[in-house]
Amino acid sequence: MIIEAKGIHKSFGTLEVLKGVDFSADKGEVVSIMGASGAGKSTLLQILGTLSRPDAGTLEIDGTEVASLRDSALSAFRGRRIGFVFQAHRLLPEFSALENVMMPALIAGESAAAREKAHRLLADVGLTERGSHKPSELSGGEAQRVAIARALINNPAVLFADEPTGNLDSATKTEIHRLLFELRERLGQTIVIVTHDPELASLCDRRLFMKDGRIE
Ligand code: ADP
Ligand code: MG
Repeated sequence: MIIEAKGIHKSFGTLEVLKGVDFSADKGEVVSIMGASGAGKSTLLQILGTLSRPDAGTLEIDGTEVASLRDSALSAFRGRRIGFVFQAHRLLPEFSALENVMMPALIAGESAAAREKAHRLLADVGLTERGSHKPSELSGGEAQRVAIARALINNPAVLFADEPTGNLDSATKTEIHRLLFELRERLGQTIVIVTHDPELASLCDRRLFMKDGRIE
């Protein structure tokens, strides 16, 4: 099991969003999480991705009990073992596509091989020719490909994607779906995807549904 979460609770003030979520994923598995808007999908993904801590429950990722890590160790762990893709690409506008992809490796102190690896990843996502372009010079689909390459540069144990194709037209969406599953074939990447898109969910190995603060 590469992710194992048990009894995850999370409240915001008096709003109890997660009421004891159990979740696990095997290495190389692609799992989708669907559910109504406001069901707590993003909250859960942020906790599984160690961006926020649960009020109660346990979370183990790739053999590490996350609650035992202090904040600084946790952010180092996150930087090296976890990749994120969001609905908006969140690329840094001042930097080229290549520099954006390199950034997490530089932050993790892996500068030596970063440039070459970023080139390889841009090729993997079909953007060999776009490395020197700024985000504003890329289409929505291209920018999201760059964001995916950036998420993978540190070989994360898990890639978390929160509505990764929510902003894209249907043709571009299908291309990104294809890319995600290609990456799984090629890299054996574990991927957890929150989505409203039935097409994307149908491609996943396992489909989960959130309701009333739990996974059904
Ligand atoms: P989903 O992604 O399924 O649409 P979210 O996890 O974003 O749902 O939100 C679940 C509920 O928690 C919503 O009612 C939302 O308003 C609330 N919520 C999420 N994050 C916060 C926060 N940081 N502070 C207060 N309320 C929040
Ligand atoms: Mg959400």
